[in-house]
Amino acid sequence: MNRPDAPSPPPAPAAVDWAAVRADFPLLTREVNGKPLVYLDSANTGQKPRAVIEAVDDFYRRHNANVSRAVHTLGSEATERYEATRAALARHLNVRADELVLTSGTTFAINLVAYSWALPRLKPGDAILLTRMEHHANIVPWQLVAERTGATIKVAEITPQGTLDLDALFAAMTPEVRLLGVTHVSNVLGTINPVREICREARRRGIVTVVDGSQALPHMPVDIAAIGCDFYALTGHKMCGPTGTGALWARREHLAAMPPFLGGGEMIKEVRFEGTVFNDPPHRFEAGTPNIAGHIGLGVAVEYLAALGMERVAAREAELLAHLTEELGRIEGLRIFGTAPEKAAVVSFLVEGAHAHDLATLLDLEGVAVRSGHHCAHPLMQFYGVPATCRASLAFYNTHAEIEAFVAAMQKVRKLLL
Ligand code: PMP
Repeated sequence: MNRPDAPSPPPAPAAVDWAAVRADFPLLTREVNGKPLVYLDSANTGQKPRAVIEAVDDFYRRHNANVSRAVHTLGSEATERYEATRAALARHLNVRADELVLTSGTTFAINLVAYSWALPRLKPGDAILLTRMEHHANIVPWQLVAERTGATIKVAEITPQGTLDLDALFAAMTPEVRLLGVTHVSNVLGTINPVREICREARRRGIVTVVDGSQALPHMPVDIAAIGCDFYALTGHKMCGPTGTGALWARREHLAAMPPFLGGGEMIKEVRFEGTVFNDPPHRFEAGTPNIAGHIGLGVAVEYLAALGMERVAAREAELLAHLTEELGRIEGLRIFGTAPEKAAVVSFLVEGAHAHDLATLLDLEGVAVRSGHHCAHPLMQFYGVPATCRASLAFYNTHAEIEAFVAAMQKVRKLLL
């Protein structure tokens, strides 16, 4: 019965017209090898919506100037737009803008932590804890630091299903561990790691946490404040933004205590030959002229994703992933690497008797772009005892029809190879 005094229910979130969203991405209309492109390599780099492409174009056509130095109109327009990205990222990630250092991507962000936080602090006897499923960008910088400080690297193992063995991870958080590097989402397995719980346990033991968010931000809402980590690294090009963009979020007390990583313009208050007074964070860590146009594009990308709503993106991709997993399950001899219950839309696989590169090459002839190789995760390949896998990675702009086209191409290619 309708009660006139009953509060009206909250309005249902507007349904997204995913076909219209797809039409925002000009590249997706092209053909490859005479076939409509089926782009399944978004974990490698995402495609860009028109708004992002136009923002970059507009910057060079109308506003091009360097940031921070010039007082003329173009200089302030460039600075305003560049700083608007920091603000947009801060809103999107629920952090303060002055805790975000804009970088060329995750690789730079993690190296910044390695050289600026870890290198001056670690010493022989200390340990850095990493997980088996880290990307090389969250392994090699720590090896370089370990070599120079005498610290050692410890590894937390995974289960065959491709999830972190949490008991083993917590047991590995021994007193000598100073820092933990953990990926939010695996770029190979798609596994979504419970970073909130992991960071809470690490914090209880005084371990500083570095979360690699490269593969999380394209797929789901991320609230960095709620995660409770010390550092969170992200890359722009996987989240609809231009290449060479990204950021490091860090707790203010860390940024305040960290010496600069690179020296040069922009990061100083006063330079004398006797000594230099450095700028305050985050500018202290942004030496030289940055990728201004790229970062302005990233700001637009973030607004684009925020307007779509990351919950809706996650729900859309969950549907696509379920479809893809089911269809691939019908292919004889196909093995999926990574079957975690909490999984982003990334599927690594091999077909018995076929090389990953051969599969990817033949799929390309069918217009299907998948990645083959080690995915910058050698230790993970070593765990599974394979040199490479094929990886189909989805974004919200993919369609069910593309999944069907991909699976039909797989069936054809499999026959050719076996
Ligand atoms: N970490 C993960 C999990 C990644 O997938 C990638 C990109 N392949 C990176 C780090 C490195 O990102 P970038 O090259 O943009 O710095």
